[in-house]
Amino acid sequence: MARFYAEFAWARKGAQDGIPQEPRHVLVALLIEIRDVSKAYAGSGNEGVSGLTLKVAQGEFLALIGPSGSGKTTTLNMVNRLVEPDSGTIQIEGRDVAQTDPVQLRRGIGYVFQEAGLFPHMTVAENIAVTPRLLGWGEGKIQARIDELLALVRLDPTTFRERRPQGLSGGQRQRVALARALAAKPHILLLDEPFGALDPVTREAIAADVRDIHQSLGLTTLLVTHDMTEALLLADRIAVMRKGTLVQTGTAQELVRHPADAFVSQLMETPRRRAQALAKTLSL
Ligand code: ADP
Ligand code: MG
Repeated sequence: MARFYAEFAWARKGAQDGIPQEPRHVLVALLIEIRDVSKAYAGSGNEGVSGLTLKVAQGEFLALIGPSGSGKTTTLNMVNRLVEPDSGTIQIEGRDVAQTDPVQLRRGIGYVFQEAGLFPHMTVAENIAVTPRLLGWGEGKIQARIDELLALVRLDPTTFRERRPQGLSGGQRQRVALARALAAKPHILLLDEPFGALDPVTREAIAADVRDIHQSLGLTTLLVTHDMTEALLLADRIAVMRKGTLVQTGTAQELVRHPADAFVSQLMETPRRRAQALAKTLSL
């Protein structure tokens, strides 16, 4: 597998307190490589994504951040071929995704959609079992996997197995969506603003669990968000998008210290201002 040098807040992997440490240059294995990819939607008059180049390391947690309409979802969808690029290439573990059967490809990639996207007529257990059933797993293996996944996302199997999505809170729905995305043991996890609609407390709890699961399962995770504070707290590295182009990638420290332009420095200002205001309030 190809390797490349990147500056990551990588040391946090071993950190007990979850606080990102000083970034350092490390040699990492390249898992996803997006090379000069463009996608224009017919008739929309604007380019969804334009000339995007992005490398994601194996085991990395990368946040894709940018305002609404900046091309984040398009980028995510091109990785698993829900959207086909007009030009450029995307490789996963050195294999061109355009040459990979889309169904096969998606089995190796867990996806949590913006609106959870659970099947409303199916129970929690049935929702989680969708991909294992498609893969022809035996019933015993499927049932064991459902319990294992519910425990992983902290939902009690006896309470939640037979519920339907309308009987769940927003946070519980996202936990089930996460369990479903992980059912077939993918190596890659794509999350499209998964916490957007949740209250702050629920949001923080699920976000922390996602980070833990990322770590414990050794996943490579792409999280789309428009919340810089969330990106700062969760991600090893942040990719900033604006109007379909990638403005900058780097660790939180790099983005704060060397913002590529006024847009990035403004993005970094909000969490900094909040932190300062909070520090001031608490010390009163
Ligand atoms: P984000 O996820 O950052 O909000 P998107 O990737 O969804 O951005 O969209 C990028 C741009 O492409 C937007 O201007 C959006 O309106 C446009 N777009 C996205 N999907 C479609 C589509 N299916 N048809 C036409 N235009 C689209
Ligand atoms: Mg989107």
